[in-house]
Amino acid sequence: MSDHDFVSGSKPIGLARGEGPSLYTADGTEYLDAGASFACTPLGHSHPAVVDAIQEQVGELTFVDSSFPVQSREDAYAAFVAATPDGLESAWFCNSGTEANEAALKFARSATGESKIIAATRSFHGRTMGALAATWKDKYKEPYEPLAGDVEFVPYGDSEALADAVDDETAAVILEPIQGEGGINVPPAGYLETARELTDETGAALVFDEVQTGMGRTGSMWACQNAGVTPDVLTTAKGLGNGLPVGAVAVRDWIADGAASHNATFSGGPVVAAAVHATISTLVEEEWPAHAAEVGDYLVDKLEAALGDAVREIRGEGLLVGIELKRGANRVARDLAMNHQVLALPAGRTVLRLLPPLVIDEGEADRLVEALTETVAPEAASES
Ligand code: PMP
Repeated sequence: MSDHDFVSGSKPIGLARGEGPSLYTADGTEYLDAGASFACTPLGHSHPAVVDAIQEQVGELTFVDSSFPVQSREDAYAAFVAATPDGLESAWFCNSGTEANEAALKFARSATGESKIIAATRSFHGRTMGALAATWKDKYKEPYEPLAGDVEFVPYGDSEALADAVDDETAAVILEPIQGEGGINVPPAGYLETARELTDETGAALVFDEVQTGMGRTGSMWACQNAGVTPDVLTTAKGLGNGLPVGAVAVRDWIADGAASHNATFSGGPVVAAAVHATISTLVEEEWPAHAAEVGDYLVDKLEAALGDAVREIRGEGLLVGIELKRGANRVARDLAMNHQVLALPAGRTVLRLLPPLVIDEGEADRLVEALTETVAPEAASES
């Protein structure tokens, strides 16, 4: 490893190329992407189907206003709606996860005619005035207040608290089916069903933010499918264009019928649409969500066996994995990068999150386990 690979001793610099689950510096040093592409490349880096689709589209037509039909956009729309859970029949494209949530909350308010938004403690939905208002961390919010109003927080995973909060004046309940930024928190069984029942009773819109959990990561195309619950509004982004900036909102008919307009110039432009179409088609046809379930189980079993008491907890679904550490996650992420050429991100102070591309194989999972064992459980590593 050459000196110039690291800045401030913590992050590799000069990443110049990606292929599959690997990233390379200009001088050819390889890193395993265990989450530094932040769930944005489910098919791995430079997947040929996506690269070809983007290149072809750029050469044909880079942009025209979305009020004019363009084939790549029509294809992306059809593929996205087909890939969303049954019951979600129409969709909008937008430019990010934040904008998807912003639109979702607006649609919920206009479709219900109510204003109260219920969000969860430790949630993250984005950093614009509306999405930020439904985000938990005060640190992100205080400098910018007042944000959009009428947001109430309930403890994530607590069905009774949710039942106390949801009423006839509720426009939306917005939840991550598994919380990402909050520390990879999996709610207790039955929680999402309770949210569904409560919103059905009062007429509020149930919004699932699948920005981090979606696109096959949890072993199903959408994490809510693991719980068998379909929301009224599903938002996604990150992996949707395998690395291009694009988000989407899928809705039930009653939301579509009651939604006032939301749009932005670049929404679903021809190039990102080509990426979305190629990404979804490849994920579905090659069954990468099922692969994520298998490799995810393999990875978590091996991690549990190898790390044992050296960590507090390992949790998640598929290839959305959080490791609750006994020490700072930043430091562990740094050691993994510096000593093992593995790139991962913290999710909060003590949780290391693993979000590798879904295409990792068991050999790469083994490499990840070995690197983590040497980093957080060196005694176990020297015994084996
Ligand atoms: N929702 C969730 C659950 C997220 O994890 C994120 C990004 N970390 C967002 C929304 C915001 O998405 P974006 O950064 O694309 O605006």
